[in-house]
Amino acid sequence: MRPLEGTVALVTGASSGIGEATARALADDGAAVALVARRGDRLEALAASIGDAGGEALVVEADITDRAAADAAVAAAIARWGRLDILVNNAGVMLLGPIADAPLEEWDRMLEINLRAVLSMTHAVLPHLLAAAELGPRRVADLVNISSTAGRQVKRGSAVYNLTKHGVGAFSESFRQEFSRRHLRVGVVEPGAVRTELRDHLRPEIRAVQAERMAAMEALEPSDVADAVRYIVTRPRHQMINELLLRPTEQD
Ligand code: NDP
Repeated sequence: MRPLEGTVALVTGASSGIGEATARALADDGAAVALVARRGDRLEALAASIGDAGGEALVVEADITDRAAADAAVAAAIARWGRLDILVNNAGVMLLGPIADAPLEEWDRMLEINLRAVLSMTHAVLPHLLAAAELGPRRVADLVNISSTAGRQVKRGSAVYNLTKHGVGAFSESFRQEFSRRHLRVGVVEPGAVRTELRDHLRPEIRAVQAERMAAMEALEPSDVADAVRYIVTRPRHQMINELLLRPTEQD
């Protein structure tokens, strides 16, 4: 039997990169997967591909910076399967740049998706995770938050991205202390550079610097990070991986 057979996972930011690879990995392990992001066409293609491989997926087109949309995304998964065992808070943006003269709109976007949406999704899913931890087939449930090396290591030019990812780490540790006795686990994944669309949203001059940095190393692939998530959620019930930091071998 596959390790996640009979479980339901919700992955935010499933339309590309790490979220897409994670949704595939969890479906491969037997989970039914709710795919959440704004680009519905990308989600439909992924759902079809998961279906072709014998898995089950639900497309939920949503902008989860909108709290009502986040609640509705969770409600859609519950309406379909009646349960949720795993939430992967993956959706995020990385709008790097110096503090001086930063467009405030970029800071707001990072706060909205990297923090506010993580909180909204976690809040909406919490009762379902607690129910799964008590009554589900594994008698354990998982919250996985995708942070970054930026959640551990502060760098010039990354102030607000650092702020959001450090925030994810702080929230996760307090979450752990509150829910560990109830077998609701939390795992923070902190990837270094991964080859995804994340850097496409940068201002051109900053994108060029990042492109040079990426070209100078063999970066991680989204499937490398998906493997880390899969490892965390398939541990036996008595074991919790709280933090998993993975970098490309060549990264500083
Ligand atoms: P991508 O840009 O490929 O993926 C980001 C995902 O977030 C997309 O699926 C996007 O979907 C979704 N998203 C963004 N805004 C919203 C929104 N308002 N509502 C719903 N979904 C949204 O980048 P990655 O896969 O690299 O990023 C995933 C996570 O990994 C992020 O949290 C990032 O910080 C983290 N990370 C990435 C690293 C890297 O080097 N790539 C390194 C360390 C951490 P859509 O646009 O369709 O809504």
